[in-house]
Amino acid sequence: MNYEMPITGTMIWYYYICKREVWLMIHQIAADQEHEDLDYGRFISENRYNRSKKEISIGHIVVDRMRTENGQLIVGEVKKSSKFIKSAKMQLLFYLDNLRKMGIEAKGELLFPEERKKEIVEWNEEHKEELERAMKDIRKIARLSVPPKPEKISFCRKCAYKEYCWAEG
Ligand code: SF4
Repeated sequence: MNYEMPITGTMIWYYYICKREVWLMIHQIAADQEHEDLDYGRFISENRYNRSKKEISIGHIVVDRMRTENGQLIVGEVKKSSKFIKSAKMQLLFYLDNLRKMGIEAKGELLFPEERKKEIVEWNEEHKEELERAMKDIRKIARLSVPPKPEKISFCRKCAYKEYCWAEG
């Protein structure tokens, strides 16, 4: 039987930021414990806006908001900044896709209250294909015997692996 590594929303999030980080995370390479922005959980929850009592779980999916509008279920994610919008969008699409697999058709919205911005995210075949390509690529990255080479990006400054990737830099 073919084993398929389960993909998580966090993997999708990092895939669109840094593929090396995806490998390090999957291989459970310890991040810098001293780093103030360190772990993914903390970073993600800080990047989420006031994540608190309102969050809702469906199966293994946790979202910030859920409401219905004209009979349409709307799943909302609240973010502090739109800086990593592609990651946020694909992560939300991943949740929408998982909900569809449970028979729940929902529309997504990303909310950036500090920027007074809202982005509608809708599941469609094209997005689904993009998501599937990303999931396939994540599994391919996971199978690499060494991590992809580091590439300097703005996220490195905040990354818990900064010392690991750029120690001599
Ligand atoms: S420090 Fe930069 S290259 Fe290294 S894992 Fe983090 S984001 Fe990727």
